[in-house]
Amino acid sequence: MTTSPEETPVLPLLTGPAAEQGIDAVSGVGARRASVLREAGIATVGDLLSRLPRRYLDRSRIVAIADAPVGEEITLVGQVGSVSKPPPFRKGRRSPPLTVDVVDDSGRLRCVWFQGARYHKLEVGDLIALSGRIEVYRGKRQVSHPEYEFVSGELDSGEEDGERQTLHTGRVIPLYGSSEELGETGLRSRGFRRLLSAALDLAPGIVTQLPEGAEGRHNLIDLPQALRDVHFPPDVESAEIARRRLAFEELYLLQRELARRRQDLQSTPSAAVDESVDLVPRLVQSLPFELTTAQQRCLREIDQDIGSQVPMRRLLHGDVGSGKTLVALCAALRFVEHGYQVALMAPTEILAEQHFHTVRQLVAEVGVQDVVLFKGGARAALKRELRTSLASGASRLVVGTHALIEEDVEFARLGLAIVDEQHRFGVAQRARLSAKGIGVDGAAIDLLIMTATPIPRSLALTLYGDLTVSVIDELPPGRQPVRTAQRSPERRDRIFAFVAEQVGQGRQAYVVYPLIEDSAKSDLTSAESGFEELRAGWLKDCRVELIHGRLPADEKADIMRRFAAGEVDVLVSTTVIEVGVDVGNATVMVIEHAERFGLAQLHQLRGRVGRGASESFCILVAYPTEGDGQEWRERLEAMCATNDGFELARTDLRLRGPGEVLGTRQAGLPELRVARLLQDEDLLQKARSEVDLFAGESP
Ligand code: ADP
Ligand code: MG
Repeated sequence: MTTSPEETPVLPLLTGPAAEQGIDAVSGVGARRASVLREAGIATVGDLLSRLPRRYLDRSRIVAIADAPVGEEITLVGQVGSVSKPPPFRKGRRSPPLTVDVVDDSGRLRCVWFQGARYHKLEVGDLIALSGRIEVYRGKRQVSHPEYEFVSGELDSGEEDGERQTLHTGRVIPLYGSSEELGETGLRSRGFRRLLSAALDLAPGIVTQLPEGAEGRHNLIDLPQALRDVHFPPDVESAEIARRRLAFEELYLLQRELARRRQDLQSTPSAAVDESVDLVPRLVQSLPFELTTAQQRCLREIDQDIGSQVPMRRLLHGDVGSGKTLVALCAALRFVEHGYQVALMAPTEILAEQHFHTVRQLVAEVGVQDVVLFKGGARAALKRELRTSLASGASRLVVGTHALIEEDVEFARLGLAIVDEQHRFGVAQRARLSAKGIGVDGAAIDLLIMTATPIPRSLALTLYGDLTVSVIDELPPGRQPVRTAQRSPERRDRIFAFVAEQVGQGRQAYVVYPLIEDSAKSDLTSAESGFEELRAGWLKDCRVELIHGRLPADEKADIMRRFAAGEVDVLVSTTVIEVGVDVGNATVMVIEHAERFGLAQLHQLRGRVGRGASESFCILVAYPTEGDGQEWRERLEAMCATNDGFELARTDLRLRGPGEVLGTRQAGLPELRVARLLQDEDLLQKARSEVDLFAGESP
């Protein structure tokens, strides 16, 4: 398999001649289907077999409507009997719920959706399988927000084409995801079942990639058996056993790939840079505070990498405000001292600008003046000048956005690249950076990635197998936890009176909204209308500015500069301020529509306050509607309960699952098709042990 470094590699779960046969080897696949399947990423028999059912319908558990017990999760199959007609959309008005009656031989059941009525394309006569919890509302049984699946044609035992009846009417029926294009060639769930059944006839030839003896060591069923059971399980338990067997294989392949990357890395050595005897000690001395123990430890770990010829690939992980920038800067100065260049990259221009000012100020203390800021939006003449100074080596420290790598800036002696906020930084950009890093005398560059995305250590170690992780697990002393409270919109009078009062005491505040402007698609208050409302009302005596991602870069920078200088009291914004903005005098953060934000995002936002010595506040204003479910409550409760990013991360992982939380795609990891990181964490460890067992041997 060859993958360009630009894209996330896909690990082929199944390999070997049997798996690598073209999809047209499967009976039932002609030219047209083959091309639609290829479009959908299914080019080989192996691809098809690795496409697992989205879920299963356990016919033994389907209940009749009349028998469905209240309060329990049930699955039933019925026909749509009626659909409430959605009223025309009116801005600023909550749309009434969508109600759909589902009928089976035994009775009728009402299904209700309080939100998103427009997204449900249910029509009278559709046959659906639905799952949900029955509740009683005004004496009648109903289900709100059930999950459902169209099963028209799924459940009849029609035999016209002589197919194997058991495919569709066995006890457990696999349901496959489809798309419009696939559907047009007859590949909905039912069509997929037929194909998979045919593909499985070819499966006995597929061999595992696990090392000799691994199946015995871990008590695993063999691969062809697992493939059969995952697609056509005799019962639900067997399906899960089979999925875990495949997950083991996949996690093993992932670990093996990461081990390979580690080995590759060692084939091009980086420069071994001498210790800093001047700049770093002087910088540390010039600080009005001591480095925390955790900062010192991380710096030692980084220093070891810098001194060695193995290129550094290190993730510096620390909660917001833990002082990552300073640690990175120490690393940077060591390079600068020995004549190398350093590039520091941030995901947004606002953040690049902030870093630039901080960095310039700090290094000026030790007499380093040649720091430059490189922005994508800068004037051409200025950029040309910057390019020249970087190519000649006259500028030793450059701060910028990813424009630095996208615009092919050349360096004379690039030794270290620092990337801030890795979860915003794509794998493509990272790869480009590595390519650029063939710097001085063909040596590889060192790479230090800073992230505040809190990842439990065990997961981080296994996930970022090709990166070494340093954790700053301690905040600078004297930080007070941000007092956090959840409030309902009825209290906005008092909330904004409090903001005005804080401003009266010389403090500054942020008010955050989920959207830039009002939208026909949603009922949310936007930053624009919030800004107008606040400026004309509660905050009319304050200097209020609006900032969001769609403003021109110059304007954004100007507003941020004035906010940092204390010329603006209240910043109304979207999440553009999410990362890295550092204004110590800001002590209040109001988050409107807090129910809309994810936990990691809320935590990031809150990290913008509580950076100075005085007590800070975070007020979460929630406007939940019935349809928002309950999860937002858990998120906000978690926020009020703790300021600890690691603890919040665990809650987040529990609520959302690791794929979402960790953004495996951004991390440059192959996408996992079968394994579920949280649920299969035990497998991850075992799979890793298999790789370690054979470490050093080429796969
Ligand atoms: P992060 O990037 O990890 O969110 P920053 O590097 O922005 O954190 O640091 C937050 C603030 O804390 C900065 O103003 C920084 O100068 C300050 N700081 C860093 N390290 C220490 C320390 N050891 N003691 C006190 N303040 C510190
Ligand atoms: Mg930071």
